Amino acid sequence: MHKFIPMAIPSFDIQEKRILNECLDSTWISSAGPYIDKFEQAFAQKFNVKHAISCSNGTSALHLALLALDIKKGDEIIIPALTFVSTANVVVYTGATAVFVDIDPLTWNIDASKIEAKITKNTKAIIPVHLYGYPCDLSAILRIAYKYGLAVIEDAAEAHGAIYKNKYVGTLGDIGCFSFYGNKIITTGEGGMLILKSSRLAQKIRLFKNHGMSQIRRYWHPVVGYNYRMTNLQAAIGLTQLDKIEIFLKKRTLIKKWYIQRLSSVPGLYMPPSDTTNSKSVNWLFTMRVTGKKTRDQLIQFLKKKNVDSRPAFYPVTDFPMYKTGEEFPVAQKITHEAINLPTFVDLTKEQVNYITKMIRSYISL
Ligand SMILES: *Cc1c(COP(=O)(O)O)cnc(C)c1O
Repeated sequence: MHKFIPMAIPSFDIQEKRILNECLDSTWISSAGPYIDKFEQAFAQKFNVKHAISCSNGTSALHLALLALDIKKGDEIIIPALTFVSTANVVVYTGATAVFVDIDPLTWNIDASKIEAKITKNTKAIIPVHLYGYPCDLSAILRIAYKYGLAVIEDAAEAHGAIYKNKYVGTLGDIGCFSFYGNKIITTGEGGMLILKSSRLAQKIRLFKNHGMSQIRRYWHPVVGYNYRMTNLQAAIGLTQLDKIEIFLKKRTLIKKWYIQRLSSVPGLYMPPSDTTNSKSVNWLFTMRVTGKKTRDQLIQFLKKKNVDSRPAFYPVTDFPMYKTGEEFPVAQKITHEAINLPTFVDLTKEQVNYITKMIRSYISL
């Protein structure tokens, strides 16, 4: 039996240990310290944006984006029916209402052709999510946003380095939000980042993330703020990880190629979308559809017995009690039952992919 293969393992080397020890020795372990600025500046440089603002996680990044845009009760925010739950939760945190749109059957991202029908006089913003690292149809989304005067907040929590029409995702909308959770493209343990052009919005984000404290008058709080700060320890790890992002992305692209080479000819398995001239995915989690006689859930159980971890795709958020609207989202409903995530991480070896795909082929053809 093969040694257990997990879904994801973060990739560290001696550099993370060294920089963490340096932080401990310096005693700068909280949210002041030199690495916060260094990480933010390096991130802004990498993504070629004016402002990069660190925060405690990807969820707080999305919440801060909505706060900076003055989103409040009575406002409506358009999001995809299929996403990680926090895309919807942050809307509720502000008192606004999440309005759901079904997904595209090929990319599993928000179906831009179904957005306009959901726009009302209360709509304030769209949050496209680049699910599993594949870019959304941003041209169509930005066109609609411009026509109706809506803000666009990109949820790029799974898509650091993904490219849409020669630009990094996260840089095309008004604000881009990233997560550095342990299984994301780069990690800080927990952590998040917002990137944007607007200095006015950047100032508001910095206000809200630091207890609403005035930046010119200490202990003066003109708004109800939050403690959404990143620590110097996290930023130090982030800086080190960011240095390696291109190596990480190359390996993830190679892993996608390995899976597709070994599985694309298996009847009933549908591979994730290929890159196009417009869209380059980062293969956050290799995700395919299982549509034959063997179900997705049966395959997960089988792989578990073979010591291979795998995951079902997210549930549509519209399945959860607090987000049920009575509407149907047929594409999201179908994909959620068919899609499976396979182990995807930088240190995954060809030998491991050979084993995983051999097991899958043997089970499906049984
Ligand atoms: C991970 C993730 C988030 C939330 O990030 P956290 O750092 O876990 O708070 C938000 N949206 C999507 C699509 C994600 O995958």
